[in-house]
Amino acid sequence: MLIKNQIYEATITDYTAEGQGVAHIEGCAVFVPNAIVGERVRLRIEKAQKTWAAGKIVELLEKSPHRRSRECPVAKLCGGCDFWHMDYEEETRLKAQRVTDCLNRLAGESLDTLPILAAPTCLGYRNKAQYPVAQKKGKAYAGFFRAGTHQVVENPRCRILPEQTDAVKGTVVDYVNQNRVSVYDEAAHTGLLRHIYVRRGAVSGQILVCLVVNGSAIPKPEALIARLKAIPGFATLVLSENTRKGNAVLGDKFYTLYGPGWIEDTLCGLTFRLSPRSFYQVNHHQTQRLYEAAIAQAAITKTDTVLDLYCGVGTITLAMARSAGKVIGVEVIPQAVEDARENAARNGITNAEFFCGDAGAAALALEKQGVRPDVVVVDPPRKGLNADAIEAMARMAPKRIVYVSCDPATLARDVGLLKQRGYRLQSAQAADLFPRCAHVESIVLMTRK
Ligand code: SAH
Repeated sequence: MLIKNQIYEATITDYTAEGQGVAHIEGCAVFVPNAIVGERVRLRIEKAQKTWAAGKIVELLEKSPHRRSRECPVAKLCGGCDFWHMDYEEETRLKAQRVTDCLNRLAGESLDTLPILAAPTCLGYRNKAQYPVAQKKGKAYAGFFRAGTHQVVENPRCRILPEQTDAVKGTVVDYVNQNRVSVYDEAAHTGLLRHIYVRRGAVSGQILVCLVVNGSAIPKPEALIARLKAIPGFATLVLSENTRKGNAVLGDKFYTLYGPGWIEDTLCGLTFRLSPRSFYQVNHHQTQRLYEAAIAQAAITKTDTVLDLYCGVGTITLAMARSAGKVIGVEVIPQAVEDARENAARNGITNAEFFCGDAGAAALALEKQGVRPDVVVVDPPRKGLNADAIEAMARMAPKRIVYVSCDPATLARDVGLLKQRGYRLQSAQAADLFPRCAHVESIVLMTRK
């Protein structure tokens, strides 16, 4: 076992899924934040367990040629981004490698490093922010949680957000301070304002502001609305009532204080209505490229039936509807399903049907009713597919399965399970939708043997 507080020398040989460097010392894996593969470092052991340890660089003995000075002044503190200390080339290399390694290790593939759809810019790409609000010396401020804590780190200008989003945050914070709106205190479960949620349509420029409050009203809403109206694109203000303890950001009740309660944006040539609770990918440009890849892999013909599980507001479903005979979307959040139906109507799409429910249960029910899709598209949350979804897909036996994933480990697990049910991996690629952050998307095509 390594000794806490002792200094060791080591070479960084790998990355964790969270983007930390990994070194091996005396048979123990040491996780080192802000480290780059190939670097020789002196590190201090901060935590020591039998098989692993956490270390901190105290001296860089040999720097990687990929090391960069951080463009973000709070990057080391803020838990939002992971990779400001390296160039983008290294970031995309490690992301492609991670997807490849997962499929090789967990799905029994033997792939060479997969291609990755790299992003044209790392700046201003995020169309959504959820700022936790805190208080310092009686003044409210908002920012992002420090990694692994609920301490709020202030950042006047977040590099991955558009400036309008930060402008909304600043405006709300000013309103809070001038009107003495109380700030939520997590430990005591007192105070009103918890989070400032901002979503801005990358194409439409429309801005939705949602304040998450431990209550059901805010003082002087008209004062806030007047201020927000000065920000170009401001379209709607919604309150989300969240009076529960815990980490969930949004509550279940929503009150629209100004505008329609939703915004619109354009993706893949279609217009989408987006409510606060609806999932919408945060990187518009890269999402469009990812969905174009999904559509190409689905190779849909005019007579095909497509089943889209975990369809959100129907983005992929409706983008595929144009080339399919019929599309069916399944989504668990009722508000998103309402948005999806509304989105079909506003785009004049008449061959789409949406069901609200668990993807697995709904797919099994559809299978019982005799639905036999030619193509199944899945885009589940990080935990991947549940057993019912896999079972339903195996019984429906579509020619093609297009799997869009935000977690390569669960993707690889599910690919392995589908391989046992008569499918083979036809193609796979990674996609970078979250530059500077450790998350990586991927897309695979499976075909029936
Ligand atoms: N394909 C959409 C949404 C993908 S995100 C898009 O790209 O925009 C995953 C979606 O799965 C979310 O909308 C989430 O609400 C939904 N979801 C989560 N668990 C689910 C379940 N058990 N059954 C159906 N949908 C689920």
